[in-house]
Amino acid sequence: MKKTLIAATAIVALSTTSSIMAQNQNFNYEVDRFADIEVLRYQVPGFDELSLKQKTLVYYLTEAALMGRDIFTDQNCKYNLQVRQTLEAIYTNYKGDKTTSDYKNFVVYLKQVWFGNGIHHHYSMDKFKPEFSQAFFDAQVSALPAQKLPLAKGQSKQSFIKVMDRVIFDPTFMAKRVNLADGQDLITTSANNLYEGVTQKEVEDYYKAIKDTTAKEPISYGLNTKVVKENGKVVEKPYKIGGLYSAAITKIVDNLKKAAQYAENDAQRAYINKLIEFYTTGSLKTFDQYSIMWAQETKSDVDFINGFIENYGDPLSMTGAWEGMVQFRNKAASKRTGLISANAQYFEDASPIDPRFKKKNVQGVSAKVITAAILAGDSYPSTPIGINLPNSNWIRANYGSKSVTIENITDAYDESSKGSGTVEEFAYSPVEVNLMKKYLTLADKLHTDMHECLGHASGQLLPGVDVGQLKNYRSTLEEGRADLFALYHMADPKLIELGIFTDSDTYKAEYYNYILNGLMLQLRRIEPGKDIEEAHMRNRMFISKWCYEHGKNDNVIEMVKRDGKTYIKVNDYVKLRNLFGQLLAEVQRIKSEGDYEAGRALVETYGVKVDPALHQEVLARYAKLNLAPYKGFVNPVYTAVRDKAGNITDVKISYDEGYTQQMLRYSRDYSPLTK
Ligand code: ZN
Repeated sequence: MKKTLIAATAIVALSTTSSIMAQNQNFNYEVDRFADIEVLRYQVPGFDELSLKQKTLVYYLTEAALMGRDIFTDQNCKYNLQVRQTLEAIYTNYKGDKTTSDYKNFVVYLKQVWFGNGIHHHYSMDKFKPEFSQAFFDAQVSALPAQKLPLAKGQSKQSFIKVMDRVIFDPTFMAKRVNLADGQDLITTSANNLYEGVTQKEVEDYYKAIKDTTAKEPISYGLNTKVVKENGKVVEKPYKIGGLYSAAITKIVDNLKKAAQYAENDAQRAYINKLIEFYTTGSLKTFDQYSIMWAQETKSDVDFINGFIENYGDPLSMTGAWEGMVQFRNKAASKRTGLISANAQYFEDASPIDPRFKKKNVQGVSAKVITAAILAGDSYPSTPIGINLPNSNWIRANYGSKSVTIENITDAYDESSKGSGTVEEFAYSPVEVNLMKKYLTLADKLHTDMHECLGHASGQLLPGVDVGQLKNYRSTLEEGRADLFALYHMADPKLIELGIFTDSDTYKAEYYNYILNGLMLQLRRIEPGKDIEEAHMRNRMFISKWCYEHGKNDNVIEMVKRDGKTYIKVNDYVKLRNLFGQLLAEVQRIKSEGDYEAGRALVETYGVKVDPALHQEVLARYAKLNLAPYKGFVNPVYTAVRDKAGNITDVKISYDEGYTQQMLRYSRDYSPLTK
C-alpha cells in the first residue's frame, strides 16, 4: 500500500498504537458532524517560524493545490460538477422553511457530496442515497433562474431537471464509482469519468497494442488520460494545458511559476519547472523525470505533491486521481527522532535480550516527520496520515522514495478523540484518565518513534537463520518485537536525561493505554464471532494477554468488574516493565533462532482468540458513544499580506472557517472548470 490511511472501521487507530486521549489545548478540533462523517480541523504548528520566503513558497503552492479541486471531482463522475453547482445554487438561494426534514436532509446530502467530491461515498464508492424528496428538489431547481444553473448549451431547464433527477435519485444509475466485482465489465459498470464509450476489452486491447513490455523504465501508461472512442477508434485524451482540464491546469501552472521564484534551492526550482513542463506537454516521460528529481531533492524544508498520483479510483489501476498537498519538515519531531537515533547503541546495549542476539553496531533510522499545510483533491477532506511516493517501481528501486508521516494530522485525530467520551467510558478511575490526559500524546509519539527508529533496527539473527522461517507469524512477531522494544525502553530514565520526557510518570500513560487497547479497545474493529487476523492487532493482543497471564501471581494487571462492566487496572508499572522485558527477550530469541514452533504457540495462545462476552461488551459500550466511522478535515485559511507594490510581506494563517463556508468559498474562488 502506498499510503497509510485511517481504515474505515478504525475510529482512532493510528500507525502503531491507538490513543484515546490527548493533551488538552485551546484549539477547537471539531467542525461538523453529518451522516457517517465527522469533520475536524488541524493545526499547522511551526508555520509562523518559517522564513518569509518559505511562507511565500507555501502560499503559492497552496494556491496551486486548491486550483485542482474540480479536476478530482470531475474525474470521479462526469455529472459531479453539475450536481455540486446545482445543490450549491439551491442552498445559497433558499428562502423557504429550514426546519422541514426535506431541507435538513438536503443539507446533509450536499455535505456528503462535498465530502465525497461527488455523488459517491469516498470509501465505499457507493452512490449516496438522498433522504430528501425528488419533489422538493424539482421545485427548488424550477424556482431558480436559468443563469444560476449549469445548463449545457441550448439545454432547457426541463431536460436538465430530468438528467439531475436520474443522477441523484435513481439508485441503479451510476451506482458505484469503482466496480471491482469479478466477471463484470469493470469499465462500463464503474461510474467514474476516466473512460467513456469504451468497454474493458477495448481498453485492454488498446494498451496491449501500445505498451512496450520490454522497457526497463516503463512510463505509467494512462496515468494522465481519459480513454474515449473517437470516430470508432479508441484514443487517449491527455489532461494538460490545451487538453482536458486545461482551465484548471493553467491556474495550477500559474501558481507553480510563482512558487518557483521562491524555491529553497536550485534542485527544488528544477523539479517545480519540470512539473510545469509535464502539465504543459502531458508527456509521461517528463513526469518520470520530474518524479526522480522530486524523490532525490531532500534538502528543502518545504515540499509538495501536485499531480495525478494514486490509481485506486480506476478499476484497471492506471489513471491517477488528481491530488495536492503542501507540507514542511517538522523540526521538533525530527529533533526528537534524531536524538533517539543518535543513542541507538545505548538502547541496544541496555536491552534485556541475550547478548548473542544484540547488534554490535546498530544504526538508528531517523523518521521523517512532516506538517501538512494544505490538503487538496484526492487528499481532501479525507486524508492519509502517511505518504510513500513516487509510485513507479523502477524509480523507487533506482532512485529511492520519500516516506513520511504527517504528525499534525495524527495529532488532530488524537486530540479530537478527547471529546468522544471513550476514555471516561473505559479508564478504570480518574487516576488513569488524568494520566492519559497529561502524557499520552507525547508518550504515544515516543512509542511510535522508538518502534520505527530503533525497534525494527535492533537485534540480529544467528548465522544461518532466515526470518522467512517464521512464515505466517513473521510480521506479527516482528511488529510485537518493535512494540516491546519501545515499551521496555521508554521507561528508561535516559529519556529524561535526553530531555525528551520531563516527568518520570510519562511512560505509564502509554503502558496503561497499550494494555487497555490490546485487551479491550481494539476489539471494536472485529466483527462478532471473528478471530483477530491483522498483524498489528494480533501483536498488541499477544503482548497484552501474555503480560496479563504472566503477571497474575503478582497481580500486575487486574481485570475488575464494576456495575457489570469490565475495567483494566495496572497495579505495578515497574513489574509490567519487567514483563515487557522478559517477553522482548523471548520474541528476540524466536526471531534470532528462527523458532517457528515457539512463535506459533505464542501468537496462537495469546493473540488470536477473542473472549466473546468481553467482545460483545466492548462493542456495546462503543455503540453508546456514537462515534463517526469516517473523519476528514477542513484546511486553515492562508492570507497574503502585500505592500503597495504587491509584494508579499507576510502570510497569515487562521483556523476559523467552518466546513460549509470553506466548501462554498472553494467553489467560488477555486473552480476554474465551472466558470
Ligand atoms: Zn512496525
